[in-house]
Amino acid sequence: MRKPLVAGNWKMFTVPSVSIKLAAELKTRLSDCDWADMVVCPPYTSLAGVISELKGIAIEVGAQNLYWEKEGAFTGEISPKMLLDSGCKWVIIGHSERRAIFGETDENVFKKTRAALDIGLNPIVCVGESLEQRDSGATEEVIKGQLLGGIGEFIDISGLTIAYEPVWAIGTGRTAAPQQAQDVHRFLRDTIFKKWGRKAADSIRILYGGSVKPENAGDIRSENDIDGFLVGGASLKADSFAAIIEALK
Ligand code: PEP
Repeated sequence: MRKPLVAGNWKMFTVPSVSIKLAAELKTRLSDCDWADMVVCPPYTSLAGVISELKGIAIEVGAQNLYWEKEGAFTGEISPKMLLDSGCKWVIIGHSERRAIFGETDENVFKKTRAALDIGLNPIVCVGESLEQRDSGATEEVIKGQLLGGIGEFIDISGLTIAYEPVWAIGTGRTAAPQQAQDVHRFLRDTIFKKWGRKAADSIRILYGGSVKPENAGDIRSENDIDGFLVGGASLKADSFAAIIEALK
């Protein structure tokens, strides 16, 4: 039985004071939650404050990105060790915004994921097709390419979480229908089964992301292969993030 996981991606929206206030509200709202694992991913400048605010609470903290080198002259980058030492436990890798705006490739995703795993961070590796790719019938090919391009070289994938986020559903208000999402999650699990075997396929968590809200969370989660959510917009308000988590009860 896979325990649901819900991660909130606060993107580049919250300054530290706002992040800490949001974390404090979540702490109050979700103090009794034992039915889902919970993660929030604030901007880098808010990590320390949020980690301190959530100390002793079952909400863990992640970063939205990292660089794969251990240290060096890489102006503007953040290393895996910096995240781990600050108290981060998770990191989002290969989000579609990083791929589309910052040119991240599957090779970059592989290096970042390896660096995260090497140091003991839990990577959430994102895959997802664009609307054009879906309309041309290329969804499975794209998803499989991103999955194997990003993590295909690992022998052991037990430390990984995958997030399926159709690009056309992110921040658009247009959610994949539960069955549409389930079909891709099933395909991802089958692909994992073929490459890594039954145990890996049965245990890996595959999250759905793309305009998840309290109103649609229960329906989407009721699909067999959907193990939780990566939430953008609705994670910026304690009420909606908590309601999404409560919908999984
Ligand atoms: C995201 O950016 O990962 C995301 C799923 O955003 P939203 O929930 O706003 O669609």
